[in-house]
Amino acid sequence: RRTYRFFEAGMDQRAKARRSLELELRQAIGDGSLETHYQPVVNLEDGKISSCEALLRWRHRERGMISPADFIPIAEDSGLINELGQWVLNAACAEAANWPDHVRVAVNVSPVQFRSQSLALNVAAALAASGLPASRLELEITEAVLIRDDAALEALHQLRRLGVRIALDDFGTGYSSLSYLQRFPFDKIKIDRSFIRDIAGPGASSSIVQAVVNIAAASDMMTTAEGVETEQQRNLLYILGCNEMQGYLFSPAIPAVEVRRLLLTHSGR
Ligand code: C2E
Ligand code: CA
Ligand code: CA
Ligand code: CA
Repeated sequence: RRTYRFFEAGMDQRAKARRSLELELRQAIGDGSLETHYQPVVNLEDGKISSCEALLRWRHRERGMISPADFIPIAEDSGLINELGQWVLNAACAEAANWPDHVRVAVNVSPVQFRSQSLALNVAAALAASGLPASRLELEITEAVLIRDDAALEALHQLRRLGVRIALDDFGTGYSSLSYLQRFPFDKIKIDRSFIRDIAGPGASSSIVQAVVNIAAASDMMTTAEGVETEQQRNLLYILGCNEMQGYLFSPAIPAVEVRRLLLTHSGR
C-alpha cells in the first residue's frame, strides 16, 4: 500500500510539473524566450546550402535551454502545438524571405496540426504575410501523419496544391514505411540519423540507405541524410548517391542572424 501511495504522489507531481511547463510554454510564445534556430542542409554534389531547417529553441529563465524533444510532446498533448506551430511557420517564412532566392526553409509540422483541418489555410497565411514564394517552403512530416486516415492524405494534397514541398522526416523509424511512399508522392525523404550513425559499421545500415536512395531516385524524390557527423559518413553517402546532408559535420542549428551571415558568405566547396 505504501508503494502504491508513493506511486500516486509521484504521478501527481509529474502531472503538476507538466501542467506548469505547459502554462509557461503558453507564455513563452509571446515573450521572446522562444526562438527558431536554423540548421543548414548541404547538397552533396556541389557543397552548397540548399535549405535550412527551422528548429525550435526555448531559453527558460530558470531551467536554461529546454530541448524541443521535451516540450513538443507537452505542446502536442495540450493542443498548444497548433499555436506554437503557427508561430514557427510565421517566424520561419519571415526569416527565409531575407535569404538568397535559391535557399528554402524547412519547417517541422506535428501530426496534431494535421488533425486541426486548418493547416493549409495557416500555411497560406504565413506565406502571404511574409511574401515568401510557396516553392521555397518545405514542410517536414513524419509517418505518424499517414497512419491515421485519408483526411490526412487530403490535407497533404491541399498543401501540395499550394505549391509547397513535402518531406518525409525520420524515414525508417516507423512501421511499414515503404507503403507510405506509394500513398503520397513526397518531394524528399529524410533518412533518419540512426542509419547514418551506423553507416560505416558492419551492419545493414549502408544497404538500407542504398535501398532508400534507389527507391527515391526511381520515384523522383530527393534524399537527405540526417545527423552526418564525420567525413567518412559524408563520403559514403556521396558514393551511395544520396543528394543532401545535414549534421554537425557542416553545422548545428544556429541563430537566425548567424545563418543570414553564413548564407551571404558561403558558396559551396
Ligand atoms: P528532427 O526534426 O529530426 O530534427 C533533427 C534533430 O537532430 C535536431 O534536434 C537537430 O539539432 C539534431 N541534429 C542535427 N544534426 C545532428 C548531428 O549531426 N548529430 C546529432 N546527434 N544530432 C543532430 P532538436 O533541434 O533537438 O530537435 C528535436 C526534435 O524536435 C526534431 O527532430 C523535431 O521532431 C522536433 N522539433 C524541433 N522543432 C520543431 C518545431 O518547430 N515543430 C515541431 N512540430 N517539432 C519540432
Ligand atoms: Ca525534421
Ligand atoms: Ca528528422
Ligand atoms: Ca527526429
